[in-house]
Parts: sequence; C-alpha cells; structure tokens
Amino acid sequence: MKPIRLVLLSLCLPILAGRLVAAAELPLVKILSTGGTIASRYDPVQKGFVPALSGEQLVEAVPEISTVARLEVEAVASIGSSDMTPEIWLKLAQRANEVLADPKYSGVVITHGTDTMEETAYFLDLTVTSNKPVILVGAQRAASIKDTDGPRNLMGAVRVAVSPEAVGKGAMIVMNGEINAAREVTKTSTLDVGTFRTLEFGKLGYVEDDGVRFYRAPTRRQTIPVGPATKLGRIEIVMHYAGADGSVIRGLLQQGGLDGLVIAGAGLGHVSGSMFDAIEQVRARGIPVVISTRVHTGRTLPLYAAKGSGVSLVKIGCVEADNLSPQKARVLLMLALTRTKETEALKTYFQH
Ligand code: ASP
Repeated sequence: MKPIRLVLLSLCLPILAGRLVAAAELPLVKILSTGGTIASRYDPVQKGFVPALSGEQLVEAVPEISTVARLEVEAVASIGSSDMTPEIWLKLAQRANEVLADPKYSGVVITHGTDTMEETAYFLDLTVTSNKPVILVGAQRAASIKDTDGPRNLMGAVRVAVSPEAVGKGAMIVMNGEINAAREVTKTSTLDVGTFRTLEFGKLGYVEDDGVRFYRAPTRRQTIPVGPATKLGRIEIVMHYAGADGSVIRGLLQQGGLDGLVIAGAGLGHVSGSMFDAIEQVRARGIPVVISTRVHTGRTLPLYAAKGSGVSLVKIGCVEADNLSPQKARVLLMLALTRTKETEALKTYFQH
C-alpha cells in the first residue's frame, strides 16, 4: 500500500486502546461551552480579551480530538467566569444530568473561565447524579495568543471524559496535563498555565498524549440532586482580617434577604470579638453560618475559647467547614439549605 493511502486510512481509523476502530465506534462526548479565556480573542476596539469563540470553533482548533471521541457541542453561556451565577450552575447541572442519562454519551466536557471554575466544578460534583465523568477545562492564555494552552487542555479534557478510569470520580478539572478533583482543587496562580492544584492532597492523575493515568480517587463525595423547582438562596462570604469589626455583616443584615453566611476566618476559623457579636446577630435570626478559613490548607477546628474563636462560634450554632475553602463551603451551604436549616443536619453535609 502506498504511504499516502496508509495516512488516509489511519485518519479514518483511529487507534483506541491499542486497536484500530472506525470513527463511528468512538465514544460520544457532549461539550457544553460557557466562554472564558479558552474562548477569548483580543478585541482591538475594547483593548482587551473578550469571549468570542463558539464551542464549535474551539473544537475545530483541535482536529486530533476526532481520533479519541466524537463530539457534540452546545452553548450554555458566553461569559467571563466572573459573571458565572448559581442560575447558570442550575442550567449546567440540568443539561449534564439530561445528557449523561442518555446511554449514548460517555461524558461531558464544560469549557469555562478559570476564575470561578472550581466553584462550578464543585457545584456539578454535588448535583450531577450520573457516575460518568464531568470535566471542566479552560485556558490561562487566550485563544488568539500564539502559545495558547486551550487546544492542548481541551484534548486532555476529552481524553479524560472518555476514560473508563474516570467513571465514578465526579467532576474534575483537567488542565496542564493534570487531573484534579472538584472538591479539592483551587486556582493558585493568576497567570501560570499550571494554576489548578490540589494543595493538600495532590492531583488525581495525569493526562498525556499516551493516555490517562489515575493514582488516587476522591473519597469525600456526596450528591444533593437539584430539579426544575430548586431555588438557591443568597449566601454571602465575609472575610476576617486584622481590624475587621463585623460592620460588613451588620450591613448585610440591614439590607435583608440573607439566607446563609460563610466566614473566611483567620487560622483555624477565628474572628474578632466584635465580628463575633455581628455573627451572633445573624444566628439570632436563625440564619445558618459556616466557618471556613482564609488559610489555603488544613481544616477549621474549635481549639480556642476566646470570644470569636472556634469554641464560642460552635456554641452559637455555627457549622465548621472542615477543609472546604470559603467559596466551596458557600456552594455546599447553598445546596444543603435546599434540604435543611438545622445546625445538626447541616453539620452532616460538612462532615461528609
Ligand atoms: N477571565 C477569565 C474567566 O473567564 C479568566 C480565564 O478564563 O482564565 O475566568
């Protein structure tokens, strides 16, 4: 056979798990696009990057993907992820659940801005009921930059979405050749391409040109299903810092409409005495409060007894976030509040 014919043949017959397969046999993946840097181009008029590329255009930039999966593309949003909202999370969860309930799909890949990707990932980890993989992917360098990381990341995301080893591991972020679990991963650098890291426990595995390798699995997963009638409350995050006196919390109470509060405390989850007074007012109105920490690793713990320390906060019915970051504790509280407002019941979600 002439070499040219061999090339054509290999294009039509991708290699899957070491054997030649016809394209029609390849697993089917749904791409849900939402915007972000991965879909952004420089706009000379606005003098900055803006989400501009469709999901189809993202896929067209990576023709090699057709050797590992068949893709269907659907737009859910076209935004920078700082504009991501709980309403869009519900829409994404609904679409992911509908798609994955269909046996013809192997997984879902969501293209997303990196800024709030970890929050969306955790929301989907909690709300997608299928055990098929949900992969979030983005880029640190926009699509119009010569060495954009988007195409390589998208290829990696699809590889993981079709990997049998990814089944049962929930939502994951796949970027820079690394696979990280939704509950644990965080954005660690504003510009580095290797920004997503699991600081305390490390990545789940790698995805390279030769395939996917998992080394561990996430163990603290739970599901809180949502539906068309689900209403998510207003949960705010307030950080403690030297001199913080709780006036932001008092302002929130004055405004009204607060359904829950997450505190990004210092250290083990500590606040000042005057911030404690404000939290006590929140609790007096029956509004749930979760104590997280602004520290990047470790868990909250009621070790100290001073007013504003853990022992006093637990005494007034605040719930410890364990090792969830403030932004992830907010996601869990938002969903747990669709089930209960009771302190003891809320605790079980955070201890899971
Ligand atoms: N601003 C972008 C976003 O949508 C940043 C990114 O995607 O990396 O989050």
